[in-house]
Amino acid sequence: MALIVQKYGGTSVGSVERIQAVAEKIKAFADSGDQLVVSVSAMSGETNRMTALAQEIQDEPSLREMDMLLTTGEQVTISLLAMALQQIGCDAISYLGSQVRIVTDSEHGKARIKSIDDHRIHQSLDAGKVVIVAGFQGVDERGHITTLGRGGSDTTAVALAAALKADECQIYTDVDGVYTTDPRIEPNARKMKAVSYEEMLEMASLGSKVLQIRSVEFASKYKVPLRVLSSLIDNPVGTLITSEENIVEQAVISGIAHNQDEAKLSLIGVPDEPGIAFKILKAISGANIEVDMIVQSVSAREGLTNFAFTVHRNDFIKAESILQVVCSELGAKGVQSDDKVVKVSLVGIGMRSHVGIAAQMFKVLHNEGINIQMISTSEIKISVVIDEKYLELAVHSLHSAFELDKE
Ligand code: ASP
Ligand code: MG
Repeated sequence: MALIVQKYGGTSVGSVERIQAVAEKIKAFADSGDQLVVSVSAMSGETNRMTALAQEIQDEPSLREMDMLLTTGEQVTISLLAMALQQIGCDAISYLGSQVRIVTDSEHGKARIKSIDDHRIHQSLDAGKVVIVAGFQGVDERGHITTLGRGGSDTTAVALAAALKADECQIYTDVDGVYTTDPRIEPNARKMKAVSYEEMLEMASLGSKVLQIRSVEFASKYKVPLRVLSSLIDNPVGTLITSEENIVEQAVISGIAHNQDEAKLSLIGVPDEPGIAFKILKAISGANIEVDMIVQSVSAREGLTNFAFTVHRNDFIKAESILQVVCSELGAKGVQSDDKVVKVSLVGIGMRSHVGIAAQMFKVLHNEGINIQMISTSEIKISVVIDEKYLELAVHSLHSAFELDKE
């Protein structure tokens, strides 16, 4: 008998019919003898709808009250799912995060899970019930309701799987797995059978929206076998996210991620002297703006240099005005800004043991006449910033050059 944790996302429980369909699937698993703990999201669109309601009353509602509000979305789906199961003769019981003691810190809106008391869950499992736990929510040590950040139900499921030492954590969603790249951009994108935690983490951070980043971190830390699969088809296989050593055939490059949420800012002609990077980034981070890529060019003869970085597009206007101030303070020549850029990244743990991947990537882009504006690398990733009009071309040519369309 296996213990499986399953998570169904908002689309999968988006209507009464879908909830009933999910109940049928769960019943089939339960009938086959597995013990099941199921975590669900709110019905699709609900969390956004409630956020908009709050906005009608206050521009910046308190985070505590937002958590109080948003956690009701999952209370609706857990109870409806329990009813749907009971209706078809499958014993089930639903719990809020606070009831199974998913204890978090007190950071409302982005709380981190500290512990889960698995006692109550085990009791209900031992009584032969399917246990349904509200995703996305917890309770802090003083009893305040918290949420885990948007997409947080993934993390609830992985945390439950870790606490219960489940055999597998299955994330049921509206896509049937993790693809080599975004299938909407590249029709030849291929579903991966398996991918390592580390690669998945890079892909999630680089813009792949399949899983909440924190859930992958959690799975990696506690070595939870994690599977992403479709709730809309029968007998899905999906993609397994696991430790590197469990992956038999490791490709050099696993996938291509892209991120259209970034914008580029450059300070031109800054005196090249100690403290420049610090002064620029202190001003930016002082406004609570996160910086992603950073490039400082080699100093030119006159002792001037250029300093460029990327921020989220939502922070673009704010960052630009801060940089104008910094520009005059530092006596730089000017600010250049561009929000028509995209970041394209190659990801693969095989890069560690293969040389020349970057050169190969740059050659492909060169052949297509695509200018690279910024480059950054890590042990398992190479990212470039390019003009956004080349997104499709870059993804397409890299995908075929690295043979990601082939098994
Ligand atoms: N309902 C929450 C959200 O929309 C949590 C989740 O779906 O994972 O972000
Ligand atoms: Mg979700």
